[in-house]
Amino acid sequence: MSTLIRNGTVITAVDEYVGDILIEDEKIRAIGKNLDVKADNIIDAKGKYIMPGGVDQHTHFDFSFGDATVFGWEGSNAALVGGTTTVVDFVNQKIGWSMKDSVDEYVETKVNGKAMCDYSFHGVVYDPSDALFEEIPKLPEIGIPSIKLFMAYKGHPYHCDDAAIFKALQASKEAGVTIMVHAENADVIDVLQKQLVAKGKTEPKYHAVSRPPLVEAEATQRAIYLAMMADAPIFVVHVTCKEAMEVIRDAYIKGVPAYGETCSHYLVLDTDNLSKPNFEGAKYVCSPALRGEEHREALWEAIKKGWLKCVSSDHCSFSWKEHKVLGRDNFINIPNGAPGLQDRLAILWTYGVEKDKISRQKLVELFATVPAKINGLFPQKGTIAVGSDADIVIFDPEWKGVISNKTSLHGVDYSSYEGMEQIGRAEKVFLRGNLTVDDGKFTGELGQGQFIPGKPFGLAYQER
Ligand SMILES: [Zn+2]
Repeated sequence: MSTLIRNGTVITAVDEYVGDILIEDEKIRAIGKNLDVKADNIIDAKGKYIMPGGVDQHTHFDFSFGDATVFGWEGSNAALVGGTTTVVDFVNQKIGWSMKDSVDEYVETKVNGKAMCDYSFHGVVYDPSDALFEEIPKLPEIGIPSIKLFMAYKGHPYHCDDAAIFKALQASKEAGVTIMVHAENADVIDVLQKQLVAKGKTEPKYHAVSRPPLVEAEATQRAIYLAMMADAPIFVVHVTCKEAMEVIRDAYIKGVPAYGETCSHYLVLDTDNLSKPNFEGAKYVCSPALRGEEHREALWEAIKKGWLKCVSSDHCSFSWKEHKVLGRDNFINIPNGAPGLQDRLAILWTYGVEKDKISRQKLVELFATVPAKINGLFPQKGTIAVGSDADIVIFDPEWKGVISNKTSLHGVDYSSYEGMEQIGRAEKVFLRGNLTVDDGKFTGELGQGQFIPGKPFGLAYQER
């Protein structure tokens, strides 16, 4: 099976040119001008942009908060219609289990037969025991070169103290395993939550009041110092505020291998969303919390200048009427997380490229190339090059519409971006050479996604 995409404007993280792309089976076989080859299918992409399929390195297709559990891999086609062909999903360790057994069980019971995009994994530490620290150096053998630890969520099983973070950092560095942290000061949040609730301040908007920017900045700085003491790299997930971003930027400029990402919602939503009446604010409860406008502008500058490395979705699809409502009387009980898998490209294009905040090449870097590198998936994923997987988006920049839950495939009852303008869309998407989105609609099959093992030293690779 071969496909020739003619006359599109190819965008990578470093190039932009008009050319033809030949796909044979699952790979990109040739790129050139006026390629003189035969193909089973020929697509004229004149006036369209051709980009690598996106890599979303922060999704939760399985996460529970109290009694609420997110919608699973049946919603993974939302990635594809949004131009994302690979996700790196967080797999929660089961208490008393090894990470490997936890991953095996997850794949068997939740992923197999359902995943529609390609996928890789990060482990999430729930049980920071000696057995886990001994297992960390072996994780690259099963294609998992990164684990995340939660500094936040005091009292939850997955909360990790500084000793756990430090031991994980020590255990990771020789094997090239990247330690990721959710950086927020758990104790301060716990105190503020209790004080607010005692005063009757229980509405969704107090979620942000209980987690001010400095709880994030403090934990980010602490995590970087712990990494420096362990002489290991560190990656801070979902950076939301100016102060935390500056801590990472300043460490990086000094030569410390400290990195971070931000997420689409922190670039376009803010605390006003949390104040929406009739409990609608609950839709926007995620952690760290949404911030004010000055933080949004600082984050756009940070991704433009490379101080934050990529933009993820932190997709975590709790429903509003079924799950978020558990915190109707107390914001502490609102499940933390929001859907967003489908909208990452739309947000980056409409509110980044179209508003002259980032270039088209920078979009590809943030959306696909760098996340592929961080997770050891590059150059198989994340770029358009001969020999890479034929994960390709044909993007129509003329399309105009509105983001709505009606056209979202994520399987929950709301979109965080409902009613927001969208310019351009993924018109056709190829996953390993197979057309899986046509005219913006999913045309693939349940279970077509494959596991892509990540190589260790993702971050080091990027720096070479
Ligand atoms: Zn997350």
